[in-house]
Amino acid sequence: MRHNFNSGPSILPASVLAEASAAIYNFNNTGLSILEIGHRTSWFQEVVAEVQATVKQLMQLSDDYEVLLLHGGATTQFMQVPMNLLNANDTAAYCDNGIWGNKAIKEAKVWGNVNVVASSADQKHSYIQKQFTIPNDACYLHYTSNNTVEGTQWHQPPTSHVPLVADMSSDIFCRPWAFNQHSLIYAGAQKNIGAAGVTLVVVKKSILGTLERTIPAIMDYRNHIEAGSLLNTPPVFAVYVMLLTLRWIVAEGGLTVMETRAKERAAYLYQLLDELSIFTPTVVTEDRSLMNAVFTLPNASLEKTFLELCKQHGMIGIKGHRSVGGLRVSMYNAMPMQSVQALGDLMIAFNKSHQ
Ligand SMILES: *Cc1c(COP(=O)(O)O)cnc(C)c1O
Repeated sequence: MRHNFNSGPSILPASVLAEASAAIYNFNNTGLSILEIGHRTSWFQEVVAEVQATVKQLMQLSDDYEVLLLHGGATTQFMQVPMNLLNANDTAAYCDNGIWGNKAIKEAKVWGNVNVVASSADQKHSYIQKQFTIPNDACYLHYTSNNTVEGTQWHQPPTSHVPLVADMSSDIFCRPWAFNQHSLIYAGAQKNIGAAGVTLVVVKKSILGTLERTIPAIMDYRNHIEAGSLLNTPPVFAVYVMLLTLRWIVAEGGLTVMETRAKERAAYLYQLLDELSIFTPTVVTEDRSLMNAVFTLPNASLEKTFLELCKQHGMIGIKGHRSVGGLRVSMYNAMPMQSVQALGDLMIAFNKSHQ
């Protein structure tokens, strides 16, 4: 058996893979492949409409919100958010909790002023600074709900009196969340909700249209809203895989079930990391991520040996991000508890044999 701990693109439910494969040959009994149908057919419009309705249902959003399916990954949103929300002479507030948030900050500075209101850089991003002041004149506050690389996660959205913007790429739909406290949420699909190539953007209409800047047509959220996410050819297959993944989440019992499973996996793994002396978790207890557990071994040679052992047992994707090193176990929605237990058995044996 393969145990896929990849950080992204990452594990998807087996049933989603089976249905997606079948649709490559014959989509919905049309006799055509999902790769061959036009994006303006009623077939595909139904796919988009169901994705949008399911996202709204899972997020419990009112009609003020629009659900967009865009290209370019979360990285494009680092640019597109300030391009649409931040005037050149205005200021946006950003939380600096890791590598992805930093990239977002860098891009925002291209379009306006940035006030970094909180940072965990002093402790190598091993915690989340949750107490800070947001200037009254900030256009919005941006935070990264789950820091995929460093393994920290917000367990409640920050309190904000200005519009709240979240990069939720690596923990979207892992649990119920106060989605409706946000003005804009974005997430690349390839961690928790599908295949690479499509980015989910949820935006409150009322925050748009206040800028002086001329926004290129393809970058302007308002154009995508007007065109129903069909401004140009969307990533049709990736959108379809997102639909299958969302249907799976709903069929499994929705966000509370996702949360129960995530907590069960994380509790088991972190307990081992705390108990087994050879492993050292790098994140403070209260800010640990349910999705990505980051830890170290005493030296690089032991890390190599452990990774080799994991590989022999079909466990892949455990090497830490190249920027921080160490080890990282990603446990997204589709991760079965059995895989985490199999890894746990290996960790117990490894700890014992190196006493
Ligand atoms: C993976 C990731 C990104 C980058 O996503 P792309 O789709 O590759 O642009 C951004 N933010 C977070 C939190 C991520 O985990």
